[in-house]
Amino acid sequence: MSQPLVLNTVADLRSRLALWRQARQTVALVPTMGALHAGHVSLAKAARGRADRCIVSIFVNPTQFSANEDFGSYPRSFAADCERLGIGGVDAVFAPDAAQMYPAGFCTAISLEGPAKAGLEDRFRPTHFSGVATVVTKLLIQTMPDLAIFGEKDFQQLAVIRRVVRDLDLPVEIPGGPTLREADGLAMSSRNVYLSADERRTAPLLHRVLNEVASQIQGGTRADEALASGRTVIEGGGFVLDYLELRDADTLGTVQAGRPGRLLVAAKLGRTRLIDNIAVSSGGGDWT
Ligand code: AMP
Repeated sequence: MSQPLVLNTVADLRSRLALWRQARQTVALVPTMGALHAGHVSLAKAARGRADRCIVSIFVNPTQFSANEDFGSYPRSFAADCERLGIGGVDAVFAPDAAQMYPAGFCTAISLEGPAKAGLEDRFRPTHFSGVATVVTKLLIQTMPDLAIFGEKDFQQLAVIRRVVRDLDLPVEIPGGPTLREADGLAMSSRNVYLSADERRTAPLLHRVLNEVASQIQGGTRADEALASGRTVIEGGGFVLDYLELRDADTLGTVQAGRPGRLLVAAKLGRTRLIDNIAVSSGGGDWT
């Protein structure tokens, strides 16, 4: 499989898109920050299956990191990423630099409420979703794809983007892709490389707790009881827990009778912050 075309400017991206559009080809976009793993590649494969052309964007977006976060040290592996994407049949990589995305004088941002203010990620990363929504909206306007695929791994991000697209009438479909996991259940993440060998052995506990809490709730245990015992297990395992919550799968607000739920967790293990989530149903009855 050949290497994907690398496009560094919006002008080059749009020229290439114009050729594909002239040939009446459909286009899918997969936005990423690089340091690609099998989870990202699974989104690219899903994109290939749903559109004639697939573009993966690679941009480590400074505005979604706060000052105390890992923007400077975020893993970067552009050559290896391109190789992986070539094998995955991706047509083009859009890799703008910061000056391309944020020209001098840049002063516009998307302001969010709703799922972006659910009291989950926003409590710990208050400016994160505005940075994500702004850069993703730019990528969508630059590319004008038929669809853009996001991972359920970042479930709150997916809910925020879907809301932005609906609210701003952006003519694009936003399918979600399932979370790819390591054999022991740990959700794949570019940040897993930060884990020490000991932490790596501990990390799958988060997914085990999510499964355990979901099966307790589905088996009829009161959600607050199941969540409380899940929190105790996570903290007992050596994590500093940010949250473990049950929420409505669309709004991320309080879960309502008859609506699908989502269990969401964020916790720090040493210097690494891990997030994960799974679907949970009320087993046909009301949430208790
Ligand atoms: P990132 O590069 O971490 O910003 O992620 C780019 C896209 O890949 C986002 O839509 C993520 O939700 C998605 N993604 C990250 N990890 C996984 C995973 N383990 N499985 C599936 N998709 C993922």
